[in-house]
Amino acid sequence: MLQGKTALITGSTSGIGLGIAKRFAADGANIVLNGFGDAKEIEALRAQLEGEHKVSVLYDAADMTRPASIEAMMTRAIDAFGAVDVLVNNAGIQHVAPIDEFPLDKWDAIIAINLSSSFHTIRFALPRMKARKWGRIINIASAHALVASPFKSAYVAAKHGIAGLTKTVALEVAELGITANAICPGYVLTPLVEKQIPDTARTRGITEEEVVKNVLLAAQPTKQFVTIEQVASLAAYLASDDAASINGALLPMDGGWTAA
Ligand code: NAD
Repeated sequence: MLQGKTALITGSTSGIGLGIAKRFAADGANIVLNGFGDAKEIEALRAQLEGEHKVSVLYDAADMTRPASIEAMMTRAIDAFGAVDVLVNNAGIQHVAPIDEFPLDKWDAIIAINLSSSFHTIRFALPRMKARKWGRIINIASAHALVASPFKSAYVAAKHGIAGLTKTVALEVAELGITANAICPGYVLTPLVEKQIPDTARTRGITEEEVVKNVLLAAQPTKQFVTIEQVASLAAYLASDDAASINGALLPMDGGWTAA
């Protein structure tokens, strides 16, 4: 349970991040939401989480491509709650294209959002975690932190990068009551995956149904999407005291994809 703790989840207006925010609020944590979306819908979500779980919920619209915005969000969260005890680096985007046609702006955005933003959130969260001698850093990486797929050069590079960042931070904080780990999900049916189905179909010259069957779920021996709730449950475990000895781990949750 996370009573008295504060969790900041980047990219928590949708998909996996939203699932983790809901789970952590249900477990008693104060929450800092972040991500893009319709302002009215986000405010309704914020108020609903507060009302249902009797916790405090802040929303900050910081753009994860902008270090100054990330700093302002982290400062606001720490001023409001004293610390970010559980930091979940989850915001992410995807773009699918052959490397020699890969748009430069997409490369820069993916590296900024999927990798560099975590460097910035971690560097601002750590001083208060160290002062409290307790902290949890949970990076939502991907099976693509462990293996590659064609046409996802920026995403695979960023996710392999987050794997290295996770392990480095874990070693630096190991004696301080803080852990840093990465969850490496296979395919989870969220807007991020739904959006890439037409692009993958175009790039590979196959239908969207074939993308789901022969590209996405072909990689997963279980032939099932990983669920948002399963990822949130592993995040909740990593945030618990029972997980104090799990540090620097890259944990696959991919139905066996990376076992092959
Ligand atoms: P999603 O598209 O549903 O959600 C992404 C979230 O990130 C949204 O809240 C969005 O607003 C936010 N975001 C995007 N750009 C941002 C920016 N510049 N600044 C702040 N917030 C921004 O995606 P998802 O599938 O839930 O993905 C979440 C994370 O999980 C990503 O890091 C993704 O790489 C990872 N992941 C997803 C899958 C999958 O199959 N869906 C698998 C493995 C890993």
